[in-house]
Amino acid sequence: MTDGASASHTDAETAQIRAAVRALCADFPGAYWRAHDSARTYPVEFVEALTKAGYLAALVPEEYGGSGLGLATTAAILEEVHASGANGAACHAQMYILGTILRHGSDAQKAQWLPGIASGELRLQAFGVTEPTSGTDTLALRTTAERHGDDYVINGQKVWTSRAEHSDLMLVLARTTPRDEIEKRTDGLSVLLVDMRAALDNGLTIRPIRTMINHATTEVFFDDLRIPTANLIGEADKGFRYILDGMNAERVLIAAECIGDCRWFTEKSVAYAGERKVFGRPIGQNQGIQFPIARAYAQGEAAALMVRRAAELFDAGEPCGAEANMAKLLAGEASWAAAESCLQTHGGYGFAEEYDVERKFRETRLYQIAPISTNLILAYLAEHVLGLPRSY
Ligand SMILES: Cc1cc2nc3c(=O)[nH]c(=O)nc-3n(C[C@H](O)[C@H](O)[C@H](O)COP(=O)(O)OP(=O)(O)OC[C@H]3O[C@@H](n4cnc5c(N)ncnc54)[C@H](O)[C@@H]3O)c2cc1C
Repeated sequence: MTDGASASHTDAETAQIRAAVRALCADFPGAYWRAHDSARTYPVEFVEALTKAGYLAALVPEEYGGSGLGLATTAAILEEVHASGANGAACHAQMYILGTILRHGSDAQKAQWLPGIASGELRLQAFGVTEPTSGTDTLALRTTAERHGDDYVINGQKVWTSRAEHSDLMLVLARTTPRDEIEKRTDGLSVLLVDMRAALDNGLTIRPIRTMINHATTEVFFDDLRIPTANLIGEADKGFRYILDGMNAERVLIAAECIGDCRWFTEKSVAYAGERKVFGRPIGQNQGIQFPIARAYAQGEAAALMVRRAAELFDAGEPCGAEANMAKLLAGEASWAAAESCLQTHGGYGFAEEYDVERKFRETRLYQIAPISTNLILAYLAEHVLGLPRSY
């Protein structure tokens, strides 16, 4: 698969960044990821290396100490991370959660939080939206934040709050006005920044969830957690719109990771199909092996164009909801097709941990479920882009 799937081919700066990311990732080979995967431990050294190199501050404007790169270049960074066999999910949210503060926070909030986030001194990589009872139906969430003087008091529970144990700050979506008291169904939710250092065991409890991949995900419980009203981002009751705003960037970046996965699987498949001999000839000589690899490659190349288009629109400040969603849908399906053909190409060895195929296979499957499931993207396209009647 060609480089430049999500950034301009003529952009010399992006090409240099891609090369530098590849060099950094070379220090974290398969054995490193296997060890963390098997122990379900956080890849601290990798996250520190990305932080030190400034990559996690790619989207922070220069005035706050970040590198002020666009989304296309940031996508290129994550694509390279995944093409190397690594997993950006350990820290990718540090790149995009801050977008909500950037777009909707006050000048004082930006000055207070962004420099620390840019330097890596402050981790803002936990995002509490999903709840056990509401799932995809975000407007049905039950966590409440009640105003008491200069504080909000938060009660409720989130689930799948990834990286909460490795974050200093968490962006939380909570209900500030009961559903039956609002006029517009999308009103009544607010975005709050929780300083987890102060909150932990002081109203905030985190419980890790062991999952089929090494994802550092958790459930979090709020029990009369008090946070200052100064930590409300933007206007009260308008938080749902702010969260939706941030989702295009997230979708493009996750899609870029899928493109990186496609490249990794395709390279592995081609190498193994060329060297493995059965019946006296390379298995890659059989069209039954060639075709699924070729088809997944074509899907990946097509998806990469959509990722690039969505990122360019985002960087130009143009609407990109349809493109960002299609990029995520197509790239997620392409990486899964590449994973499936890679596992099949490796036969029994695809199941052996030392080949890394089974690990990447498990990891790339997530992207058809999170951060948004394939069905919900299709529903968005059908209803909001094509104008079909609403199904929910
Ligand atoms: C490893 C991992 C990490 C995650 N990290 C985070 C995080 O950091 N922060 C966070 O807030 N969330 C996170 N999530 C949650 C993730 O965003 C949700 O799991 C996802 O949005 C789906 O929600 P759900 O699991 O509740 O599924 P449900 O909403 O229960 O849906 C189950 C299935 O039904 C389908 N479905 C539901 N409604 C419809 C419909 N109307 N039409 C058609 N199909 C439908 C869905 O597509 C899905 O396939 C994470 C999840 C995982 C697994």
